[in-house]
Amino acid sequence: MSSTGNINGWCANIIYWFDEVSERAGGVQTETLRQILVQNFEAEYLNKWLKGANIQEMDANALESLYTSVVPLVSHADLESYIQRIADGEKEPLLTQEPIKFLSLSSGTSEGRQKLVPFTQHSSKTTLQIFKLGAAYRSRAYPAREGGRNLEFIYSSKGFMRTRGGIRVGTATAHYYASDEFKLKQEETKSFTCSPEAVISSGDYKQSTYCHLLLGIHFSDQVEFVTSTFAYSIVQAFSTFEEIWKEITNDIKEGKLSSRVSIQSARDAVLDIVFRPNRNLATRIQSICEELEKNDWFGVIQKLWPNAKYVYSIMTGAMLPYLTKLRHYAGDLPLVSGDYGSTESWIGVNLDPFSPPEKVTFAVVPTFSYFEFIPLHRQILGSNSAAADDFIEDNPVPLSQVKIGQEYEIVLTTFTGLYRCRLGDVVEIAGFHKNTPKLNFICRRKLILTVNIDKNTEKDLQLVVDKGSRILKKSRAELVDFTSHANVSNQPGHYVIYWEIKGDAEDRLIEECCDEMDASFVDHGYVVSRKCNTIGPLELCIVERGTFNKIMENFIANGASLSQFKTPRCTNNPALLTILSLYTVKRFHSTAYGP
Ligand code: AMP
Repeated sequence: MSSTGNINGWCANIIYWFDEVSERAGGVQTETLRQILVQNFEAEYLNKWLKGANIQEMDANALESLYTSVVPLVSHADLESYIQRIADGEKEPLLTQEPIKFLSLSSGTSEGRQKLVPFTQHSSKTTLQIFKLGAAYRSRAYPAREGGRNLEFIYSSKGFMRTRGGIRVGTATAHYYASDEFKLKQEETKSFTCSPEAVISSGDYKQSTYCHLLLGIHFSDQVEFVTSTFAYSIVQAFSTFEEIWKEITNDIKEGKLSSRVSIQSARDAVLDIVFRPNRNLATRIQSICEELEKNDWFGVIQKLWPNAKYVYSIMTGAMLPYLTKLRHYAGDLPLVSGDYGSTESWIGVNLDPFSPPEKVTFAVVPTFSYFEFIPLHRQILGSNSAAADDFIEDNPVPLSQVKIGQEYEIVLTTFTGLYRCRLGDVVEIAGFHKNTPKLNFICRRKLILTVNIDKNTEKDLQLVVDKGSRILKKSRAELVDFTSHANVSNQPGHYVIYWEIKGDAEDRLIEECCDEMDASFVDHGYVVSRKCNTIGPLELCIVERGTFNKIMENFIANGASLSQFKTPRCTNNPALLTILSLYTVKRFHSTAYGP
């Protein structure tokens, strides 16, 4: 098989298009804002701020100045009453001129509660567009073969919920997988997923994962790359594979499907494909897996899919903790970091597939939304301010005025009816592609751990956990997942970190990990408070194997999708705390600041 002229054709076109809009990024942004406002200025929310302005006649620059001076910066909570009215079925244009027919549930795992965000065909179109753009750059780096397939660990929901007003509700990924754009993606990029629609939308992630793996093996020679939205899903799938590979091999050998898959539509769809016994393939897979089992499954992806060129998924931000395991499963296959976006809007594309996930940047696509950037300056000393934030902010600037090395919070104005809405993500400007900025994802802005004057973000916690878990390497144990909680129910309050580990480690070693983490928080407020004991010793709780699966299942039971799931790195959610406390098997208290 060879790469085709056709593939080169669409790749070249979209790369040319992106270079062109990046060259004119500032002007394209102003024009994008004009389009959003012209389309929607009669909707109630915008009309409230822009009433009387002659939007149609105004030039784009004047409109940008007017808009940013009269429409306030908001957070999602400020728009919730409008979104609720849409959900209740109000017919008047509230946020957009066109009626909103779908609402997306953002994973909301960072805030512990899911948010509803408008979703329109524009959302699916931009998903298709960013996919094609990323795919074009990947195909240049790793030319694709005609007839190739992708092994995609993707999950939609079975049917959709409806609000009281009849609006369809699902995750953004579920809406997208059900859209024409998802089918178009496969046809236009000649890149077909191994699993049919009935598997993706079975609604039961365990059954879907089984089918994805089985079909991936069925198509093993054709698989070009292995992918998921967030890296967590790939790690999850291969830890399942370690347990069930014999059953899958048996299905391949006999041309049947395990009774684990009980959803009829998924069964029928899989059996339509895997209906002939394939003893040769089964024997090959069996001998590969027997070898892999002896080596703790190092390189399983590379071994099972000999023609796969890379593993592709979002590996940055909250996914960094899964990189070690992902690298282990990938073996020598390169890891290519996926693009940057949110339920609210896609933001940036990874233009350099060779860049390791730790260094990846995302070039902002200036046609997707109107982006503003709030400059953030880190406070050196902790303060007891009511704002309880770790940054001082300046006024937002447009995309054309961002500066390399500066950190910003992203603000979105979208085609789907969000106006100057803070996303809550902190990014740093790493450079430019033509005139559009390339962003480094830094962290979610929200402070996650705070007892009094201390302020630690998700990223701070991640660094601390990295340091602590390095000590585990002295044993045969490894960290599977973690979360945390600021426990202020007793005085002094203290941090609790929950670890799920695989393998055995002596208590003495875990005590060392606990001390190391306590001593590794560099936030001045934390250090001072620990020294004078206004924050108590850090507590490390070891939870039973499988606890984090239970947490994920709890989210899924509440409407989240595995495709968008991110383990909350800090939680106050009572249901989660109950699970964590129920399955805690050991507790350790730090002596880093004295006994
Ligand atoms: P959701 O709430 O499910 O829409 O998830 C969106 C959030 O996931 C973003 O606001 C980011 O915090 C995070 N995210 C999405 N893409 C990336 C990425 N490539 N790198 C790091 N974090 C990301």
